Amino acid sequence: MPADPPRPSILSVGDESLAAWLKDRGQPKFRTGQIRKAVFDSKAAAFDDVTTLPAKLRADLAGAFSFFPSPVVRHQKSVDGTEKLLLRLHDGETVETVLMREPGRRTVCVSSQVGCAMGCVFCASGLLGVKRNLTAGEILEQALRVDRLIAPDEDGGGRLTNVVVMGLGEPMANLRELRPALDALCDPDRYGLSPRRVTVSTVGLPKQMREFQSWDRPFNLAVSLHAPNDRLRTEIVPVNKTTGLDAILAAADEYFRATGRRVTYEYVLLAGVNDGPKEADELARLLKGRNAHVNLIPMNPVEPTGLSGSDEPRTYAFLSRLQRGGVNATVRKRKGADIDAACGQLRLKTGERETGEHEASASEPRGESLVALTR
Ligand code: SAH
Repeated sequence: MPADPPRPSILSVGDESLAAWLKDRGQPKFRTGQIRKAVFDSKAAAFDDVTTLPAKLRADLAGAFSFFPSPVVRHQKSVDGTEKLLLRLHDGETVETVLMREPGRRTVCVSSQVGCAMGCVFCASGLLGVKRNLTAGEILEQALRVDRLIAPDEDGGGRLTNVVVMGLGEPMANLRELRPALDALCDPDRYGLSPRRVTVSTVGLPKQMREFQSWDRPFNLAVSLHAPNDRLRTEIVPVNKTTGLDAILAAADEYFRATGRRVTYEYVLLAGVNDGPKEADELARLLKGRNAHVNLIPMNPVEPTGLSGSDEPRTYAFLSRLQRGGVNATVRKRKGADIDAACGQLRLKTGERETGEHEASASEPRGESLVALTR
């Protein structure tokens, strides 16, 4: 189990413990609310920024807790407004988180694990395997760090409007830590997002999808399908060997029935592998009659994989064939093309561990690197 850093993060301290800590110091009860407000509803990034608190208390808090324990070791900005942070965790591991800007919408893409064990053949995140699960505080910190990149006067109310769990890792393999992090983001007394604005993306682990469903919250579910039959899917998504498409689709159907949330199927188009008319027709047959949406994702180049994404004509041919087959589908927009914003790309390039402090790097335009993290 991952250990918390020596000074506990204020993000992982419950209200009751915080209230007890404050009481010991003769502080009034309302301070708990003030501190929570500073964390979730202000742009403070350190206790010293919380000027609603007395200076002595700010210093005591800073001695006992860390506000944001994971420093930003890289900060990249794309010409399209996308920003990407690489955070260094207390044990030297690094994770990525991305802010995507669209009119009226500010979306954070958070990681759920250090690395990934699923081994999808086109993905950078799994090339080095999985190191560990992130803690709830580490997941939450990514969203709050990204919240601080949004100016109060930006549209979308100067705050995050959407959360997608589509960064490094397989979220269904870390439900224990994901749950409290999403609870904090959706609690009206904390960050206050609607669960309808949260999307969790999974490779498709049926048992864990059912557990996720049992939380009984209207989160959106996205299933990374990538192939219309088990033979091809097992080649692209090795874990499919033990799960199989039928069980995944059954769990997704159940999710839809229970929550009323339409399931999204992600399909990364790989040139010459899964992007032909045969696969389009097979996928249409598989999904027809389901209340589903297919998100076709142009593959972001990840050199060591030796795979490449489908070109535009093939992508759109696949799209129209699916649509003619009666399936609701779109091609996902590319974001952050110039900053390696696809999950795992930055971490892979910088090496597994980071030692630098707060290095803000200018983005190097890299035309061939494309990103597609959200609709
Ligand atoms: N493990 C989860 C969530 C993280 S990946 C999952 O598999 O869904 C989020 C999405 O990005 C997935 O659909 C994944 O297949 C996709 N993805 C990973 N690498 C990619 C790449 N190089 N190009 C395009 N999409 C990629």
